[in-house]
Amino acid sequence: MLQVTHCDAGDFSGGDLLGLRRRLSTAEREQLAAIDEGVEARIATPALEAWNRDAFAPDLLPDLVDLGFGDLVLSGASHLYQGLAHAALARADLSLSALVGIHNELIIGMIHTFGSPKQQDTWLPRLRAMEALGAFCMTEPGHGSDVAGGMETQVRREGSGWVLNGAKRWIGLGTLADIALVWARDAEDGRVKCFLVPTDAPGYVATKIEHKIGLRIMQNADITFDEVRLPATALLPGAVSFNAANDLLCVSRAWVGWQAVGAQQSVLSILRDYVTERQQFGRPLAGFQLIQGALSQIAGNLALSTSLMADIARLQDDGGLDMAQAALAKATVTRLARESAAMGRDAMGGNGIVADFGMAKTMCDIEAIYTYEGTHSINSLIVGRALTGVSAFV
Ligand SMILES: Cc1cc2nc3c(=O)[nH]c(=O)nc-3n(C[C@H](O)[C@H](O)[C@H](O)COP(=O)(O)OP(=O)(O)OC[C@H]3O[C@@H](n4cnc5c(N)ncnc54)[C@H](O)[C@@H]3O)c2cc1C
Repeated sequence: MLQVTHCDAGDFSGGDLLGLRRRLSTAEREQLAAIDEGVEARIATPALEAWNRDAFAPDLLPDLVDLGFGDLVLSGASHLYQGLAHAALARADLSLSALVGIHNELIIGMIHTFGSPKQQDTWLPRLRAMEALGAFCMTEPGHGSDVAGGMETQVRREGSGWVLNGAKRWIGLGTLADIALVWARDAEDGRVKCFLVPTDAPGYVATKIEHKIGLRIMQNADITFDEVRLPATALLPGAVSFNAANDLLCVSRAWVGWQAVGAQQSVLSILRDYVTERQQFGRPLAGFQLIQGALSQIAGNLALSTSLMADIARLQDDGGLDMAQAALAKATVTRLARESAAMGRDAMGGNGIVADFGMAKTMCDIEAIYTYEGTHSINSLIVGRALTGVSAFV
């Protein structure tokens, strides 16, 4: 006899099109529902206001801690849960999602994985409570994509300690953080190492980069280091070559993929709400076939992105994610997000370029995530190298 399988609809209103949340434990599902509710009620509106002012939003930090974003990476939750939590926040605001991602994947992750017991004891409790914030300092004014080989920021040994000189650019929270994790070349052996630098150290000067069109809440900075004196204990003992940075960049590229998932959830829901309300030719835009086509294509991009990221989470749970896989995911999902936002913006007409309607804000933020954690081109070239065995960029 023919078995008729009940086709349980995915959550087409909330963005979980393929019902991925059903794979989570009950506790994780409940926590994620609390995050959805919390970001909608407490984060989305003040974030839009802060984004328009190009201002940091310190008042929102306690809410982020309350929702579990202070120590997501050490929470012991599955990678699928962590990814979906990143996406839920990104759906409400990509700048705060950038802050939380860098805080967890790069700052806490770095100190937890590569720091000394003293660095961990001193900083991890305060970081997990977001009573302290960190800045991840890799990119330089003259070296972005080629920073691994080209890094000019330098440390030299002096007595029992170190002296740091150089400049960094684009550093998130550079003007606001309590500590900076600074990558610098050791003048003695030429290797790139990471140092924990208090931002009140004499010689540390940070200047906000003004007039960014994306991630406007997440303040980025130019930083100079002029004879910054550090104790011997400033070195992160596990981060004494660029390989350590690569390990971190692999997981943080996965996190950016989840940001692109959340961004597309945002695009889909903003557009659906808008076209349902907006009337032209005497009926809602939602009734026109081309508008439904755009919605459907965005939904398809979102479903593809989410499925790809779910498989990345599976690889992470198994301990098997490698750089080519992370780069493939980051490049693909941010590309799809960019395409989705462009379609969403067009389908909203003139209001699509007004930040207050949400779409333009998300579109500009997607431009930033398309570029950071390795540009789309560089991540594509990492994939190309894995496919051909030939590197096109070193
Ligand atoms: C909003 C934002 C936040 C950031 N936050 C941080 C942070 O907190 N900490 C940090 O260290 N960095 C941060 N970055 C820096 C980011 O990682 C760099 O912007 C990125 O690595 C690209 O470097 P670049 O901007 O110098 O571009 P460039 O390297 O100058 O590249 C310019 C263009 O040339 C292309 N290109 C370069 N080389 C090649 C090649 N071999 N083949 C083909 N194309 C190539 C690139 O893909 C890009 O399209 C941030 C950037 C942004 C925009």
